[in-house]
Amino acid sequence: MSPAAPPIRPWRVSLHGGHSGEFCGHATGRLEEVLEAAVAAGFAVFGVSEHAPRSAPRFLYPEEVERGWDVARLAADFAAYAEESRRLVERFAGRLTVLRGFEAEAVPAATWAAETAEHRRRHGFDYVVGSIHYVDEVPIDGRPEELARAIAGRGSLEAVAVAYYEALGAMIETLAPEVVGHFDLVRKLAAPFGSVDTSPARRAAERALEAVAAAGSILDVNTAGLRTGVGHPYPAPWIVRRAREMGIGFCFGDDSHGPGQVGAGIGTAREYLLGLGVREVEVLDREGEGGGMEVVRRRVGLEG
Ligand SMILES: [Zn+2]
Ligand SMILES: [Zn+2]
Repeated sequence: MSPAAPPIRPWRVSLHGGHSGEFCGHATGRLEEVLEAAVAAGFAVFGVSEHAPRSAPRFLYPEEVERGWDVARLAADFAAYAEESRRLVERFAGRLTVLRGFEAEAVPAATWAAETAEHRRRHGFDYVVGSIHYVDEVPIDGRPEELARAIAGRGSLEAVAVAYYEALGAMIETLAPEVVGHFDLVRKLAAPFGSVDTSPARRAAERALEAVAAAGSILDVNTAGLRTGVGHPYPAPWIVRRAREMGIGFCFGDDSHGPGQVGAGIGTAREYLLGLGVREVEVLDREGEGGGMEVVRRRVGLEG
């Protein structure tokens, strides 16, 4: 470890992030560089959760279409990610505990659940981050004009928010992911269009929180919110408070899309949680020896 690296803190674990330009069209750097950045940033445990490959061409992102990519390319990149992440677990052993995950998509509606189960089985991932990025097959976190299209389709931002939380709850009930990604991502681009905290939207969010509690999933306190004008990590303070009352656990996610974002905002997110009365987070880790090392979950205090 370099002398400048911060001391290891047990709570300092990110479970959502580690995207790299090697395997993601909107990220930068190589996965190995991302993990070197995690060592330099003082992480002892770092989870990587590359995007699951979208299996239908209509879900390709504009930059992927511009590059001439297709679903076969996404699938091949994801398989390569599974292999490389496995290699890097070994390569970093003793310096950094690398956890292998992926960020599941709940699209296409008819096939996503079976695809997710198959990715996990085939590649032996340690955990899954369950996220929703689409409402009515329109991305709600990409370009403002796309969110506007989703709003036009549903008639209001409020209706989009309700649909988002309903999709989130259904995904959680089906998948019971270890981690739920950026719980209120629908907030990201919403401000110019109105509020996603109206009474019906709040009720829908509460139902999704009930699904989180029932599934025993961990809520990702996601620092991308600090980088996108939301002004705080996802989820919003009222959601953190409500989740805490329901006994739901929290983890950190830097949602890093390149080495330069590794660890970004984690200290701020810790302060955010402490300010909302949350005194501990859930972490995943490996226990045991060599190839038999098992992934375990535990609660660690945020103090110190
Ligand atoms: Zn991404
Ligand atoms: Zn995401």
